[in-house]
Amino acid sequence: MSLDAEQRREALRQIKDKVTNLKESPLYAYRNEHKYYPVIGEGNHFAKIMLIGEAPGRNEAETGRPFCGAAGKILDELCASIGLDRKDIYVTNIVKDRPQNNRDPLPREIELYGPFLDQQINIIQPDVIATLGRYSMIYIMEKFGLSDQLQSISIIHGKTFEAWADYGVISIVPLYHPAAAIYNPQLKETLKKDFQVLKKFL
Ligand code: URA
Repeated sequence: MSLDAEQRREALRQIKDKVTNLKESPLYAYRNEHKYYPVIGEGNHFAKIMLIGEAPGRNEAETGRPFCGAAGKILDELCASIGLDRKDIYVTNIVKDRPQNNRDPLPREIELYGPFLDQQINIIQPDVIATLGRYSMIYIMEKFGLSDQLQSISIIHGKTFEAWADYGVISIVPLYHPAAAIYNPQLKETLKKDFQVLKKFL
């Protein structure tokens, strides 16, 4: 079932409320201590392209907006390289709260926040999901029954995998995390090249 604009807004608002009150999260106390915001996601509620990162960093937790720091700058550049405006896509993360000192998300955190991401996918119903980094690659490929095709990100980055979502066919494109390109110009070039794959979904 496809929701209209108001229904999407409301469904996403409810997710925000639930995450805001997610007291069982190991990251809840840390968020409150630092007066951080949960980072739910941002962009077009009818986006064809959804980008999924790992978890908010400090800039994101301070503003409540995904990819607004150094990694976000690279993401903006990558989007611009294929004429894509961030306003046209939807950007989110698996884990919606900042892990302490930007450590990797824990399995328990992915388990806890994953269902909110699942709901976001079903609300927005993108044609393609580009995963940013290993954590979202593994989560999304397992979720869409692609476990047998999971390999190291160094092997499958930029490839397109077809799968079935609850609402129809979906393409999955694993990409490197933009943060990995901050100090690695070669990786940035690889990311730029891989981003070209998304052009056909515009
Ligand atoms: N890294 C992520 O994975 N997500 C963000 O929102 C910012 C940095």
